[in-house]
Amino acid sequence: MTKASPRDIPSIEVLVQKLSVIPSFAELPRAALTFLVRRESALLRKEILKGKSRWNEDDFAQVLKQKARQILQLSLVKAVNATGVVLHTNLGRAPLAKPCFDILRRASESYSTLEYDVENGKRGSRHAHIGELLKVLCGAEDGFAVNNNAAAVLLVLNTLAEGKEVLISRGELVEIGASFRIPDIMSKSGAVLKEVGTTNKTKLSDYEKAITKNTGMILKVHPSNFRITGFTQTVELKELAALGVKRKVAVMEDLGSGCLFDLKPYGLAEPLVTESVKSGAAVVTFSGDKLLGGPQAGIIAGKSAYLEKIKKNPLARALRIDKLSLCALENTLRIYALKENPQDEIPVLQMLTASPSRLHEKARQLAETLQIFQSVVDARIEKVSSLPGGGSLPDAAVESYAVALHPRTMKVNQLEEKLRKNIVPVIARIEKNRLLLDVRTVREEEFGIIKHALDVVFHA
Ligand SMILES: *Cc1c(COP(=O)(O)O)cnc(C)c1O
Repeated sequence: MTKASPRDIPSIEVLVQKLSVIPSFAELPRAALTFLVRRESALLRKEILKGKSRWNEDDFAQVLKQKARQILQLSLVKAVNATGVVLHTNLGRAPLAKPCFDILRRASESYSTLEYDVENGKRGSRHAHIGELLKVLCGAEDGFAVNNNAAAVLLVLNTLAEGKEVLISRGELVEIGASFRIPDIMSKSGAVLKEVGTTNKTKLSDYEKAITKNTGMILKVHPSNFRITGFTQTVELKELAALGVKRKVAVMEDLGSGCLFDLKPYGLAEPLVTESVKSGAAVVTFSGDKLLGGPQAGIIAGKSAYLEKIKKNPLARALRIDKLSLCALENTLRIYALKENPQDEIPVLQMLTASPSRLHEKARQLAETLQIFQSVVDARIEKVSSLPGGGSLPDAAVESYAVALHPRTMKVNQLEEKLRKNIVPVIARIEKNRLLLDVRTVREEEFGIIKHALDVVFHA
């Protein structure tokens, strides 16, 4: 074999000419194709110089096809969530309620009243759209929204405690997801973390003793994705709020999920936003797309004196909510404010409050739909225990029903992969060598997608 040389690679013009007639590149504009050819041939040249590769036209076309696909194929697309995890962060957390869609389309395809005061014909505020709704729903003096709850926490800390100490219980120095850690957000906000108490026990006197003239705030964080059990003690928000008033220190609670609908009757013990506000916290923050079931957003509610300051912080501009999310949030909040039974309209609540008998019936229907694949896959209804809240409701494993698939002609992990790579990805989990389709998070309208996906898997 002759020694490989970078000179074996044809010129950019020749390569572009050759590739442009291949159907895979037909839809790719000339400029994009030229960019890819130039970049990939430069990479290949380096590899050849290192003696790690040689020119091969077919291999090069293969690499280019894969890169072209990344441009041509839609990437962020609908998926079927068959995991049973209602608030699945990797699958986009909360699906929006139907009434949001039309309004979202109309507000985005044309101009809108985003920051326009129609009454007086002058500049308005984007906060105006949800201010009253939040006051009513949270029982607070004022409320507004920013980009997400991480932004809300950062903004409040920076406004009320920059350069000052923030007291927080050692048991609440949490990490939520891989990218939100209270100590890191605290340091970026310019506030100084001051831990009080111990991991499992913190008393009111621990906070009391830690207050100095340099204390900017007391922060309480709802441990939304873990529980410390056993020999524990925490201080009620109410007691902290009273201490805050006595010593003139603002008390904030980061609720994480922020429930506006009482899920306790359904076995899910999440604190209500109204309870935190009533406890006397100066400020509470929570997510728009966790248990609230709306778009990504961070909601800040509380006493107007504090909220005025927070809104005026220049960081509020950098962290502001965008118009599409705001529009979806207004319409989600309207459901809570105006509908008798929001749990019938907000998808997240619908899924979390679904009764076992309802879920069993759904599983029966799905299993029936999949009976036509009987010769290649065994499909049976099974009772499962799932974590509907993902990271949001740590110890709330609840009863659900799944259709367990046991393929006869391939391995279960092959089936999992094929469904995952379906044109509409179907995401499911493997348990004890069966693929579980947990119906809690699958809608009836999606049964057809699953059926079609299995059809492609077994009959393609
Ligand atoms: C989820 C969560 C956050 C982060 O909220 P995002 O809306 O994801 O930014 C912050 N604090 C707590 C306690 C949470 O549970």
